[in-house]
Amino acid sequence: MQRVFPTSLGISLDWLHQRCCSLPLFILLFLFLLPKAAQAVDEVRHTISFPQDRQQVILVRSELPANLPVTELIMPNWTPGSYLIRNYAANVNRISVFAENGTALRVQKTSKDRWQVETSQPGTLVVQYEVFTPKLNVSSSWASEAFSLINGASVFLYTEQSRDLPQSLEIESDQDRGEVFTAMPLGPENGVYRVVDYDELVDNPVAVAQAPTYRFIYEDQEYVLLNVGENESWDGQQAARDVEKIVAETQSFWRTNPLERPYWFLNFAVGGKGGLEHDHSTVIMTGRRQMRDRDDYIKWLGVVAHEFFHVWNVRHMRPAELTPYDYQHEQYTSQLWLAEGLTSYYDNLLMSRAGLIKPEEYMELLAVDMHRLETTPGRLLRPVTEASVDTWIRHYQPNSNSINSTISYYTKGAVIGFVLDAYLRKESKGRRSLDEVMRKMYSLYSSKPYANDAIEQLVVEVGGAAAGKFLHDLLTTTADPDVDAALAWYGLRLERGSSATDGKIEDRVLKSGFGVVWDEGKPGLIVKAVLAGSGGSNAGLMPRDEILAMGDERLTSDRLESLMSSFQPGEQTTLLVARRGRIINLDIKLDTAIPDRFEIVLQPEFGKRHIRRLQNLLGQNLR
Ligand SMILES: [Zn+2]
Repeated sequence: MQRVFPTSLGISLDWLHQRCCSLPLFILLFLFLLPKAAQAVDEVRHTISFPQDRQQVILVRSELPANLPVTELIMPNWTPGSYLIRNYAANVNRISVFAENGTALRVQKTSKDRWQVETSQPGTLVVQYEVFTPKLNVSSSWASEAFSLINGASVFLYTEQSRDLPQSLEIESDQDRGEVFTAMPLGPENGVYRVVDYDELVDNPVAVAQAPTYRFIYEDQEYVLLNVGENESWDGQQAARDVEKIVAETQSFWRTNPLERPYWFLNFAVGGKGGLEHDHSTVIMTGRRQMRDRDDYIKWLGVVAHEFFHVWNVRHMRPAELTPYDYQHEQYTSQLWLAEGLTSYYDNLLMSRAGLIKPEEYMELLAVDMHRLETTPGRLLRPVTEASVDTWIRHYQPNSNSINSTISYYTKGAVIGFVLDAYLRKESKGRRSLDEVMRKMYSLYSSKPYANDAIEQLVVEVGGAAAGKFLHDLLTTTADPDVDAALAWYGLRLERGSSATDGKIEDRVLKSGFGVVWDEGKPGLIVKAVLAGSGGSNAGLMPRDEILAMGDERLTSDRLESLMSSFQPGEQTTLLVARRGRIINLDIKLDTAIPDRFEIVLQPEFGKRHIRRLQNLLGQNLR
């Protein structure tokens, strides 16, 4: 984007031409206005504060240069990294705009995300408004006495003319609300943050809270873990030690450090889940007792590893379609299987290489991805590249048919990562790997956007033409990745289903099933989704149906397992169903139960060569 603020006469002339009808008046006006225009700000200054008497409200005051007769103020509709139109303008209220001399200017709403201001003369506009913060998540803002989170795209207006200008930010907060924490650098003025442009303002979330920080240095680079909501269930010291291991492993993976200043893990242990990546920080939402349970804690470490990996993969190395960011419109890319999926492959792997999870824990996480992929019928309808393009209307807005109509590019991308990595290792007898492809990608594309076939070309370079075709087919068809062949290279095998020989899951045997996904969040047996082609689908079951009885037996969640195991797949029976206030009967032919768990086990011929291969992959000595 071009910087168009008046450093030359052209802009002022354009503006005056529209305003002035005669040349002498034009010259007079020009002479009158020139010093004023020259003095106008060449930066945008934002101040935010919180009203004492209201929760969930952020007050914003922005000073923007304006040199056109009409200035258009714009509110973003989405924030990078979270591909959903969120219409942030819906939370902007009480907007008023003043000229430098305090004169109130006319403001007119012209579209859902834009306001027009009639500017009487070039100078500085003072824009004031409120932002209501309805939802606490990593992609929005939140203001409360206990803690606040500011995600710039949901708070700050911009103009096309000011987007490339330096931006400063001052936050007025009192002691009760706590301190301000952000990776945004401070400028020369005391307490005022300053960044090079609007993109950087949006890319630096701010936390306001009373919360402990844990700092560590790795190879001369400083890192900070902020733990908002830390309580007796959260051991901040331990968490920081584990985050440091992830940082060390990720930095040594990429072999090049793109960070220019301290990196912040803004961890909100206040409920919720997820993370959002930025150049110098990440926001993570997690549970208050996440550290109490080993599996839950591994999930949190996985989010940390995922978001930090993103510094390289998607922040600095980015698909061409996401460059530059267009905050108003969807930016369609087929490459989220790489940006998100391969990041999901590496988050677990780097946790293992960092020694944070045991090899068997890594295999459990991998089996979860494989299970999720193979029990999602939608994988047969939509290649992962198309699921990526469709993220704006599918991934972030799932409905009861999503399981039949699409596949997560996180899940399938992670499985593709595992299968492709195994292929490259196998074909090169362990000399090449996906690690090498990723590092080559970064060296080529950290400074310029990459095209859709970039990684395929590098896979050809590293693994040969057949490897390129192998990846191309995984990306463009709906054929399942051959996980069995990939696991076999490591001497492993995937056991599918509930009747695995391992005693751990034998007591959960479900021999027959309806082909539905239950709504676990509600009491009773409520159908959340019906799998396409299943017995339930053929019988006419619908999402939100409550199943009351099967045959002449009352069906409840605690009786489901024993009842279903006494029926064989293929048997006919009837269901008594409550649907929208009515009771109906349905005839059903039972299916084989959907496998509820996959497990990765050793093949009988598992031997030394497999141990060596697994050690190379997992970065751990195997007993
Ligand atoms: Zn991600």
